[in-house]
Amino acid sequence: MSAPRVVCACTGGHGSERWAEDLAAALPEAEVAAWAPGRPPADYAVVWMPPKDFFAAQPRLRAVFNAAAGVDGALAAGVPPGVPLIRLEDAGMGAQMAEYVTWAALSHLREFDVYAAQARAGLWRPRPPRRPADFPVGILGLGVLGRRVAEALRGFGFPLRAWTRSPRGDSAFPVFCGEEGLMPFLAGTRILVCMLPLTDDTRGVIRRDTLAALLPDALCINVARGAHVVEEDLLAALGGGRLAGAVLDVCAEEPLPPGHPFRTHPKIVLTPHVAAATLRGEAVAQIAAKMRAFMRGEAVSGTVDPACGY
Ligand code: NDP
Repeated sequence: MSAPRVVCACTGGHGSERWAEDLAAALPEAEVAAWAPGRPPADYAVVWMPPKDFFAAQPRLRAVFNAAAGVDGALAAGVPPGVPLIRLEDAGMGAQMAEYVTWAALSHLREFDVYAAQARAGLWRPRPPRRPADFPVGILGLGVLGRRVAEALRGFGFPLRAWTRSPRGDSAFPVFCGEEGLMPFLAGTRILVCMLPLTDDTRGVIRRDTLAALLPDALCINVARGAHVVEEDLLAALGGGRLAGAVLDVCAEEPLPPGHPFRTHPKIVLTPHVAAATLRGEAVAQIAAKMRAFMRGEAVSGTVDPACGY
């Protein structure tokens, strides 16, 4: 039997060649190559922002492995119907996400941004202490990464709640579910953390009415996808004093265009989509293990449900 052919089409980060090199070392039984126009079609693809028309030139794929946790990009690139799409689960991103969200929540609680501004202005003005108990955190999406974030925040005494698509009976804190659970979830949230996949159901979930439902002086942390936020509604909520601030790792258009109002907004902290980077070593090891399991005919965790889009 000939060796399975694997193609890497990863246009972001380190490029297809580095992925192919590392994957070839982890999967010596396969024939692994970086994508290039005109190459023979492959049995398996490893993708991350694949080039336009990539999937059109791959008529015999048995499975696609996404070198990231979010699959909205791969789906938009046109994974062929019926071909399983398998994503990364954690692979070192959980710890990074926990660090990022804990940093944002603690900075807000302890007003470190205020003290930084004071220091720049030469001021020395202690403020009254604030308690985590008064800053309940609501996590939109309690999946692989959301659970890691919840664990980290719990260690600092933040009360927690979460919103999911399907009901949960096993959580140590309240979990609200579905459309009818959204407003009650928001009504008890002061620090909102978006950790949802981007799907037709979650696009624009952070908008005027949902922001208005939060507790007063709320903070919005978006580490999922920019399109979860209706940008003008976020700006209006910040301007109207409804929101105390926003920490945004992702934006609808990336890189954020020069002159975009988010860039200079005094209540917005921006980072360039770095909350949880794909770590190539961990990712390659996970993809190799999942590909072998798939070839053995086993069920593979992280397989995307096409009906749900995640
Ligand atoms: P998971 O698929 O493990 O978790 C998704 C969670 O969202 C689940 O709890 C799911 O509910 C919930 N959810 C999905 N749709 C809905 C809906 N319509 N209503 C309510 N809840 C919903 O994803 P991960 O935790 O691995 O990743 C989450 C996202 O984080 C990724 O999709 C990606 O966009 C983003 N990300 C961002 C990075 C960055 O650097 N900024 C890096 C990595 C990921 P249920 O439990 O019921 O299925």
